[in-house]
Amino acid sequence: MKKQFRSLLCALFAAIMLLSISSCGKTTETPENSESGSGSGKIAMEDNGGNKVILILVDGMRPDAMEQCGNSYIDELKKNCAYTMNAKTIYPSKTLPAHLSLFYSIPPEKHGTTKNEFTPREIKDLDDHGLFERLSGSGKKTCMYYSWEPLRDVAAPESLTASEMLRYQDFEAFDEDILITERALRGIEEINPDFAFIYIGSTDSTGHKYGWMTGQYLERVSAALDRIKEIIDATGERYTVIITADHGGSSKNHGNNTPEDMTIPMFFYGKDIKAGEISGEVSIMDITPTVADIIDVKKPKSWEGKSLWADIKK
Ligand SMILES: [Zn+2]
Repeated sequence: MKKQFRSLLCALFAAIMLLSISSCGKTTETPENSESGSGSGKIAMEDNGGNKVILILVDGMRPDAMEQCGNSYIDELKKNCAYTMNAKTIYPSKTLPAHLSLFYSIPPEKHGTTKNEFTPREIKDLDDHGLFERLSGSGKKTCMYYSWEPLRDVAAPESLTASEMLRYQDFEAFDEDILITERALRGIEEINPDFAFIYIGSTDSTGHKYGWMTGQYLERVSAALDRIKEIIDATGERYTVIITADHGGSSKNHGNNTPEDMTIPMFFYGKDIKAGEISGEVSIMDITPTVADIIDVKKPKSWEGKSLWADIKK
């Protein structure tokens, strides 16, 4: 009898401990959410389906190419997304500097990478202040699927739940965009991440080989729209999907401060998104603060971009 009473007491004690641990978890999360200013008021770990994001970046995709490539999916996107065909990337309009400005929400003068070679950052504690670091630090699951290896530097070690890089020497012999999309969709099903970054790269390779706005380039942009459709069809009910590019291009290159190189598209698709054209100036640096608000994590002061969430949510 005494033994039974003691085990009952133990079970009661364990139950109280469990209850206090779980309520602790909630109280530590709620204040951080209310500070984030997104106004959604949702508990961070709650799987409500609306606060997860997939970011698709199509390397070198000009907005006018999306319209001229002959793929009618652009009309669907315009009908169903909040979008702008006139967002701006940073100067120099190159892939690695643009990605660092996107994920750290600061211009190249601050992150120090102005070429496609990663330059160790000048600000010492910057590692804590990128989107991947911010999300993983808040207990979120993050994934990245890409085919250009220097992009590994957009996320500090320990900030990714999963990452897959596939590189082929001959982008025309193997359609790496199809493979990356397959891997990404499989990973998203398996891991159910809060944030996934998918990089589509052969558009840029085609621009460098044949020239921007050539038939070959427009064909690749049309194929990229097919990949975007696949991703939205598979995940659009559960995720807010963002589509953008790192830069444009003209002739067989990019990197200049011209409208052709600097103008990028930006689309937001999802059940919480109000469709229509976004007015005002939009920068590639606005993506990270917007993602932070959608997922509901606190934004550090170092981010220079502005959140678009208040303008694009229903
Ligand atoms: Zn390029």
